Amino acid sequence: MKAAVLYEPNTPLKIEEVELDEPQANEILVKLEAVGVCHTDLSFMKGEMPVGMPIVIGHEGCGIVEKIGPGVTSVKPGDKVISMVSFSCGQCRFCAEGRPTRCTENVNIMMMAELPFFAGKRVHKGDQYMHQLFGLGSFAEKCVVHERAVVKVRDDAPSDVVCLLGCGVTTGIGAATNTAKVRPGQSVVVYGVGGVGLSAVMGAKMAGAGNLIAVARSQNKLDMAKELGADHVINPNDEDPVAKVKELTGGMGADVAIEAAGVASVMEQSFASIHNGGICVLAGMAPMTAITSFAPFEFLLGKTITGTVQGDIIASIDIPRLVDRYMEGNLPVDKLITKTFSLDQVNEAFEAMENKEVLRSVIKI
Ligand SMILES: [Zn+2]
Ligand SMILES: [Zn+2]
Repeated sequence: MKAAVLYEPNTPLKIEEVELDEPQANEILVKLEAVGVCHTDLSFMKGEMPVGMPIVIGHEGCGIVEKIGPGVTSVKPGDKVISMVSFSCGQCRFCAEGRPTRCTENVNIMMMAELPFFAGKRVHKGDQYMHQLFGLGSFAEKCVVHERAVVKVRDDAPSDVVCLLGCGVTTGIGAATNTAKVRPGQSVVVYGVGGVGLSAVMGAKMAGAGNLIAVARSQNKLDMAKELGADHVINPNDEDPVAKVKELTGGMGADVAIEAAGVASVMEQSFASIHNGGICVLAGMAPMTAITSFAPFEFLLGKTITGTVQGDIIASIDIPRLVDRYMEGNLPVDKLITKTFSLDQVNEAFEAMENKEVLRSVIKI
């Protein structure tokens, strides 16, 4: 089968023939149909996040289960599944208390880039085994993953749209609905409206935000934010976003700020944009070495700042619901997709992302 392999940071992905081992206990083989192109992949490709090489990257996959290994009970061949960027073991303390995106196994999977529970890798070229980003490795025709790494969805959901629910879109929606718990009428500002930020706009709208503000430097993103429900847009090239947010919220600052740019200085602006007692959610991924600073006094005023992993979703419950919302026409995730590419064009897809030509793109396998 074909896969896109990264041999060294800052080099193009190599599309090449590789071999795939059979699924072992609790593993499944998925024939991928579509994979979202996510900025997180790029962070690993650029070496901003450490990971072993060679590696098959890609993690927003949607496809059909082709084979199951011994002991698999949650899916069967023929099921349509979406792979999740955050794995949940179902047994650790965080899974037990209903916070599966904080599963302790996640850090191991991210650092090791192999299947959960240190189960190794299933993709290889001769004797050389390849890492699988997030235990997935979705820029490939097929992948072998743990059964708990996927969620089954309805058969009629279009794979080339719902694949985005595997990471970025749910991170944005969940940052608003789960992490910030936006309530009807609240003022919400979203900094950085790429795929995650626009999804945060959709999530905030869905939760009934009363005054929804989007901040970005590119006009096409701001236009889309408006189309998805933003009441006001701010371009930091033209005006100071923090001052403008205050002005738009009656001098107070917003109830909720969501940072989806993954830039340390923007995180500080996001925190400065909320009023006393407000909440700032960091949904963007800054480079591992980035440092931010906040005045401790502001915390005495009851301001909260928190991060989110995949929008604190409970995948097995939230993903099928969000798919239903999309299918009913109430969650226009497809509007985020500017372009589709083939697996052979995966490097072009990342160029388009870096050149800011796309909001989101999808690889059709
Ligand atoms: Zn767990
Ligand atoms: Zn992602």
